[in-house]
Amino acid sequence: MTRQVPGNAVTTPAKGLLPTLVRWVDADHLPEGPEAMLAAPKEVDWARCVPFILLHLACLGVLWTGASPVAVWTAVTLYFIRMFAITGFLHRYFSHRTFSTSRAFQFIMALWTATAVQRGALWWASTHRHHHRHSDDPEDKHSPVVDGFWWSHVGWITAKRNFPTDYGRVPDLAKYPELVFLNRFDVLVPVLFFGALYGAGAWMESAGVATSGAQMLVWGVVSTVVLFHGTACINSLAHVFGRRRFLHTGDDSRNSLLLSLITLGEGWHNNHHRYQATVRQGFFWWEFDPTWYLLKALSWTGLIWGLKPVPASVYAEAAGAADVAGTAEEAEQSA
Ligand SMILES: [Zn+2]
Ligand SMILES: [Zn+2]
Repeated sequence: MTRQVPGNAVTTPAKGLLPTLVRWVDADHLPEGPEAMLAAPKEVDWARCVPFILLHLACLGVLWTGASPVAVWTAVTLYFIRMFAITGFLHRYFSHRTFSTSRAFQFIMALWTATAVQRGALWWASTHRHHHRHSDDPEDKHSPVVDGFWWSHVGWITAKRNFPTDYGRVPDLAKYPELVFLNRFDVLVPVLFFGALYGAGAWMESAGVATSGAQMLVWGVVSTVVLFHGTACINSLAHVFGRRRFLHTGDDSRNSLLLSLITLGEGWHNNHHRYQATVRQGFFWWEFDPTWYLLKALSWTGLIWGLKPVPASVYAEAAGAADVAGTAEEAEQSA
């Protein structure tokens, strides 16, 4: 078990390219020890950026493969299917346990989220739990308030200090070896996923459909890159743009309809920072939260259950906040 340690600790992480290269395949290969990595300075690890940059450059492949309706619609569909996995499963299940499920469906959720290419569910959840513990303080891994837009959007994921999975933060998940396996070899599912896209494209081409393996692969990559930036918007923008209903969350989290449209409901971030244990992020019917609607529908199948609601006390607080906001607006108008 490891715990996060302050960034100014004196331990030095091991130098050299080899451990970084091995970690592209085995995310738990930490010869210098997780404590040393967690104590590394807040800085970009350029070797770690290579796969990330290659993924972006691969989008230029559309210049060679071109577009087709089937490839573009696959990319759009994959964006939403995988955004749902990120918000419904990585965030609302693995990070916050806002509903219950079976061990078998938990594994299916972990596989589904792995196709989003945002590393393993345990890394994602441990990182996110750390964010709630340190929101907008200097220890926060991705605070736009403390470290600016670029660091909170993308810089932080390349830093050595943010690479190891802090298994001590996710003991409830680390007890499942199948989840730890997927988390450790987090490149496995993405490789199979992209391979399947190529295979599907090649098969459709042989069946006379106007696409190809390369075209489906490239548009799958485009979808994945857009998906990354859509998700990253919550880190970089949801603490900067929008309204604050709950003023005493101890951070700068905000509510934004625009960010909710991009992320299937994650834009109600101030609501979420106020009360993390509910499956809902839009607390009212007019706060568009498609992930909540989909999880509700999923509960009717019996695959998930025990969806945690917003407590009455939080609704009462929201009503009080509206009164306070109303009073402030009236005061402004009469001034
Ligand atoms: Zn959260
Ligand atoms: Zn936040």
